Amino acid sequence: MASVSVSSRFIKAAREHYMSLSQGDKCQVTYIWIDGTGEGLRNKTRTLDTEPKSVENIPEWNFDGSSTSQSKDSDSDMYLIPVRMFRDPFTRDPNKLVLCEVLRYNRLPAETNHRTSCKKVMDQVKEHKIWFGIEQEYTLLGTDGHPFGWPQNGFPAPQGPYYCAVGTDKAIGRDIVECHYKACLYAGIKIFGTNAEVMPSQWEFQVGPCEGIEMGDELWVARFLLHRVCEDFGVIATLDPKPMKGNWNGSGAHTNVSTEQMREEGGLQYIEQAIERLSKRHMEHIKVYDAHGGQDNLRRLTGRHETSNVNEFSAGVANRAASIRIPRQVGQDKKGYFEDRRPAANCDPYLVTEAIARTCLLDDVEQVKGS
Ligand code: ADP
Ligand code: MN
Ligand code: MN
Ligand code: MN
Repeated sequence: MASVSVSSRFIKAAREHYMSLSQGDKCQVTYIWIDGTGEGLRNKTRTLDTEPKSVENIPEWNFDGSSTSQSKDSDSDMYLIPVRMFRDPFTRDPNKLVLCEVLRYNRLPAETNHRTSCKKVMDQVKEHKIWFGIEQEYTLLGTDGHPFGWPQNGFPAPQGPYYCAVGTDKAIGRDIVECHYKACLYAGIKIFGTNAEVMPSQWEFQVGPCEGIEMGDELWVARFLLHRVCEDFGVIATLDPKPMKGNWNGSGAHTNVSTEQMREEGGLQYIEQAIERLSKRHMEHIKVYDAHGGQDNLRRLTGRHETSNVNEFSAGVANRAASIRIPRQVGQDKKGYFEDRRPAANCDPYLVTEAIARTCLLDDVEQVKGS
């Protein structure tokens, strides 16, 4: 088994004593934000005198952007603007987690704050009631960076028995998955489900359906919960789109999409229309579908291991080797949703959902990015 981290070796029973101490009327609020890498999450906690009833009751705060690759020393103060509040499953009620947008000293969005522009587009397409559901795949690693539970030297048996598996030799790290699921439910995340994935120690959870801007908010906080749960077990969750080279599946963030018209009787024609529009902007989408401008997906979208080729757009019913898949049931019902299989596990869901909403629902004249 992989080496165990320092913090997970602390006696967790001792922690229970302190956690059960009364905290009076005070409330702990943990502010969460996306750092300058566009992938990493940061957080810090403060005390409020009373429990906030909604996010509007939580004050703005700030942090040192020069320590998160978000600013230079000379203008290092960054603003934290609370946008979504959740219950804190780690220190429990009445304590809160609050997702924040980051603004620079001049109150313009930080470079990796893609929520501002996403929100603008979602407000523009509000009447379509666009829903998203994202399947977040990830891989558990030991603190040595090797997949959790893999033999120190060599490899586990080839892929085949692991997807949706049960058994000690096949489902590696289930404790983490189950604890994360509960943590999401407690927090108030719209977690849809979980399953073991094709590569050993690879798992998936889904969030959704979420309307508009909610998708990015909920997925980022669900990722925070995952990393935090992993601390308790001394393992690491990586969203690297292709953590192991060779005959091992990579990790995606399949994005399921529907508008009100698509969900209604005869909605298939609107799904086909959306796919037609997506087909014309394939490369623009690829550029925002991973954390490195399309570079990461070059490793993952090879046309093998249930992926499409990064350079080609394709679509089909029940086709897992296509860019876009129409689920078989949707093909039969002639209504429902479609699945964009291209986003990588480390994508920013704000960028992905914004690109999809723009391409499928806005006309060219409305396409001025960041205006
Ligand atoms: P797959 O068969 O591709 O593995 P999953 O069961 O893992 O699919 O995930 C299905 C996803 O589709 C979930 O995230 C769910 O929230 C989402 N979803 C279901 N219905 C809709 C809908 N009408 N619009 C958008 N997303 C939807
Ligand atoms: Mn899935
Ligand atoms: Mn999957
Ligand atoms: Mn899928």
